Amino acid sequence: MTKYELKRSSDRRSALDMLCSSLHFLFGKNFERATRIVDQRGVKRISGEPSGRSIFQVVGESKRKEEYFCFAEHYCACYSFFYDIVNRGEQLCCKHQLAARLAASVGACVEIEVSDEQLALLLSKL
Ligand SMILES: [Zn+2]
Repeated sequence: MTKYELKRSSDRRSALDMLCSSLHFLFGKNFERATRIVDQRGVKRISGEPSGRSIFQVVGESKRKEEYFCFAEHYCACYSFFYDIVNRGEQLCCKHQLAARLAASVGACVEIEVSDEQLALLLSKL
């Protein structure tokens, strides 16, 4: 590595560190949990064809490995969403929503395509 490349990679590393600590400041432990979910490829994006509408299905961290349907911005079917976010207003979003956003931004979603009818059926069960 040249001196210039070394400097660039250390700049990049410190920018990344700064970004990670901001995310940690905003989301606390949920940030680490969300990164673990993304690392284990736990985020599916189910897209309806031809509309392109989509919903995320995100795996939980408990042993049962249940999966939660979620909209990254507005909704998650998990218990924490209703308890910590809707009821008590203590968090900005749950770890599943955060994992969905992270996975979507780094291109780590498992992409699943279904028909719009299948997607509608899925949504009707939420
Ligand atoms: Zn959730």
